[in-house]
Amino acid sequence: MRVGCPKEIKNHEYRVGLTPAAAREYVAHGHQVMIESGAGAGIDASDEDYAAVGASIAATAEEVFAAAEMIVKVKEPQPSEWAQLKQGQILYTYLHLAPDPKQTEGLIASGVTGVAYETVTDAHGGLPLLAPMSEVAGRLSVQAGARALEKACGGRGVLLGGVAGVASGRVAIIGGGVVGKQAAKMALGLGADVTILDRSISRLRDLDDLFEGRVKTAFSTPTAVEETVFTADLVIGAVLIPGATTPKLVTREMLSGMKKGAVLVDVAIDQGGCFETSHATTHAEPTFEVEGIVHYCVANMPGAVPITSTNALNNATLPFGLALADRGLAALTADPHLLAGLNVHRGKVTNRAVAEALGKPF
Ligand code: NAD
Repeated sequence: MRVGCPKEIKNHEYRVGLTPAAAREYVAHGHQVMIESGAGAGIDASDEDYAAVGASIAATAEEVFAAAEMIVKVKEPQPSEWAQLKQGQILYTYLHLAPDPKQTEGLIASGVTGVAYETVTDAHGGLPLLAPMSEVAGRLSVQAGARALEKACGGRGVLLGGVAGVASGRVAIIGGGVVGKQAAKMALGLGADVTILDRSISRLRDLDDLFEGRVKTAFSTPTAVEETVFTADLVIGAVLIPGATTPKLVTREMLSGMKKGAVLVDVAIDQGGCFETSHATTHAEPTFEVEGIVHYCVANMPGAVPITSTNALNNATLPFGLALADRGLAALTADPHLLAGLNVHRGKVTNRAVAEALGKPF
């Protein structure tokens, strides 16, 4: 198959769909790999590195989109990219369609077969292609939140770890999945006082065992959210209902009960966000303020650490990507976990949660 990898064009997105190591494996499977010139610059991979493993280098994205039977990317296609997709082509990337009707219409119009990383499943009920980026975003969320808490950045002026004789900062993590667990690890490592809220008792039990009582856990009701958020310095939104728009668990009204200069980091923003007042921001302008509360809502957080992120992502996407390249659409019918990733096909939405979120037929 002709496998193409264009340069990412989303604001401050430095990751790339294929590392040279991954490109080498596609070539070893007999595929022709075409990389847009400069696509690997953000991970310190040159055109020569790709050429050395047998990939060809295209001068423009247009060449890649025109020639490839399968496009491997990182972020959802931007409007200029939708226009170049076509029926019969496989698009293998993050899509996050539920909160994005415009992109959905663009993909429907193109007729492309869109396999979304974030809805591919595994045998344990997990999301193996979302997990590595969630690990990165979870760890970054505490770094970002700690920085935003500094006075010069608009925050309260609290050091999460405190010092001897001065209490630690309080961190509330809503959603104790992959993002939440990694955020808790980092926040604990900094010496913060950490509470995790989740709707899953078994998840809370596992976290309680893992952290051996060093984090508090709470069942996530509106009352528990209010109580925890009102005393927090940093709130991390890490909720996910797979494929669906995130519920707004922290309302605009609740902001008035929070400490002035507290920070909300809405990691779930890529699925619509779990704070009512969130809107997506970029690495160029990551924060904004509503009623004295600093919001950090970067939709592509892992893009800030592209070397770590791209390698972690490729480790997870490579086996499924090779299956798609080797067998085409037959790979989807052969593997229900990969099939779960199919979000659009020949002008139709093919994922139930996405269809329901957008009021589309399924
Ligand atoms: P996950 O499925 O591992 O965890 C989600 C958790 O939310 C689960 O434990 C679930 O029980 C819990 N939950 C559901 N409803 C809840 C509620 N009402 N209250 C509290 N908890 C609730 O998902 P994840 O991999 O940790 O991802 C979390 C979010 O982060 C997703 O929206 C994902 O798309 C997003 N994400 C964003 C970025 C970014 O750059 N902004 C990067 C990676 C992941």
